[in-house]
Amino acid sequence: MSAAETTLRKKPVEYEATVTEVRMETHDTATLFLDLGGAPVEYKAGQFLNIDPHQFPALRAFAAYLQEQKGRRELFRSYSMSSAPHEPQVAITVKDEEFIPGLTKYPGLLAPYLVHGRLTGARVRVTGFMGPYVLPDDVEERTDHLVHVVAGSGAVPNFSILKDALHRDLRLRHTFLCSNKTWADMLFREELEKLEAAHPGTLRVVHTLTRETDEPRFGPHVRKGRINQALLEELIPDRDRCLVYVCGPAITPWDRRKALDTRTPATPRFMETVLGHLHELGVEDKRIKREAYG
Ligand SMILES: Cc1cc2nc3c(=O)[nH]c(=O)nc-3n(C[C@H](O)[C@H](O)[C@H](O)COP(=O)(O)OP(=O)(O)OC[C@H]3O[C@@H](n4cnc5c(N)ncnc54)[C@H](O)[C@@H]3O)c2cc1C
Repeated sequence: MSAAETTLRKKPVEYEATVTEVRMETHDTATLFLDLGGAPVEYKAGQFLNIDPHQFPALRAFAAYLQEQKGRRELFRSYSMSSAPHEPQVAITVKDEEFIPGLTKYPGLLAPYLVHGRLTGARVRVTGFMGPYVLPDDVEERTDHLVHVVAGSGAVPNFSILKDALHRDLRLRHTFLCSNKTWADMLFREELEKLEAAHPGTLRVVHTLTRETDEPRFGPHVRKGRINQALLEELIPDRDRCLVYVCGPAITPWDRRKALDTRTPATPRFMETVLGHLHELGVEDKRIKREAYG
């Protein structure tokens, strides 16, 4: 069994973590640095951990209310590591998605607490590490071009994968394509800029902004609008050789149920749209790895 397979098959472990720092990345997104108490920590870039919301007394009443409304127990939530395995501290980066009355069905339970709950010093039980959204051991034999296509907090696992691949000096070029609403929403903007400057010819970062109104923000590195087929065609010339890692919002199980009930097809979200473009451009499914966030 390869080293990667061994890590992937390890049974998740429960850790009593301490939040050592909460760093606001944007107005609605925070990175929580976790001290796992000196226990051996083994994860692969791209993996996630789980957090059970029931452990927090501050969320008890709200969780009970949501359970009553939804008619089912609230489950754990998953968070990808934004840290890479070589970095000294494990970190997760959490986005508190906006509640839009009339559009969003329920307010978020755990993300608002993790982001705004001033949790520095708090103890948090986490279970990790898991998930197959990782690089294969033989990635350098499969490709020399890794394309990251991400939206919002979907940047988190890809940021970890990128840092890990650069740290390990893998023979890979990276194109990091990142979609957000506005300039203020751009996640890891400065870190990505620094990595790009430190790895010229190896890393290319392109952002797209769907709702930015400040025109001078736009240029070759920051494009206007959504990630569309033309942009993917421009950035991926080697479509029969690249590997694409796509992470972001996808049609949820609730959307699917509603679609069945109303006999109206669910509206494609980021994931379905990007996959459609990639297929249309001739990127084979076996060259695409995906991780769907709700
Ligand atoms: C593998 C994986 C990795 C992830 N990594 C990250 C990460 O790194 N960073 C990050 O920010 N997020 C990540 N997520 C998303 C994260 O797990 C949570 O879904 C997110 O934080 C929202 O949780 P919440 O408790 O705040 O909101 P929730 O209570 O889960 O609600 C979220 C949305 O779902 C809707 N919803 C909930 N229940 C129902 C229902 N019964 N019917 C209809 N609609 C419903 C709500 O209306 C709302 O729009 C990841 C998800 C997965 C699967």
